[in-house]
Amino acid sequence: MNPGYLILHPSPPSPLHTHVELIARLTEVQFLDKPVIHGKQQFYPGDRFLQWITYLGCSPAIPLEQNDPQQNCTIQLFGPYQAPQLISGSNTRPPRCPHCRHDFINWQTQFNKENPYPIICPACGKPLLAHQLNWRQQGGISRQFLTISHVFPGEAVPVSDLLRVLEIEGGKWEYCYAQDPIRLEVLNETDK
Ligand SMILES: [Zn+2]
Repeated sequence: MNPGYLILHPSPPSPLHTHVELIARLTEVQFLDKPVIHGKQQFYPGDRFLQWITYLGCSPAIPLEQNDPQQNCTIQLFGPYQAPQLISGSNTRPPRCPHCRHDFINWQTQFNKENPYPIICPACGKPLLAHQLNWRQQGGISRQFLTISHVFPGEAVPVSDLLRVLEIEGGKWEYCYAQDPIRLEVLNETDK
């Protein structure tokens, strides 16, 4: 069973990669290996995958065989989408206002769709965009995502050098965790 995902994404408004650029960059550093199915945006880990992702704990069992994408670790790309999307899971708790720590307890109805529009914090009155809330690494908002399967929330972290490999012109990337299947549309290369 897949226990969840480690998800990397550009922090809005960081520039986005095309899939072609992203795949080339991550293949060159041996983070990615061959695609699970040719032409799809899902890959098996490359030879240096474990130098880019640090698994915490004493001896985690990391399923790195390249024979069954359901049972083994794979990396999948999502986006770039026209508008920011929210990735969340059963582990996601209410995000907080970064100014006054107000919890947005109705986040599932407020942020379950594309929500690039400003909202007003009901506690402190400051205008916010959804990605500016503190999601505590239990959810993420972006136009592009890279998901790594078979990671229990908090079980693995990207090394800082990997985040720098992903940066374009200094635009930052961040990471979060989600349990449950990723419910985002998979775009074809021709959709962009
Ligand atoms: Zn507030």
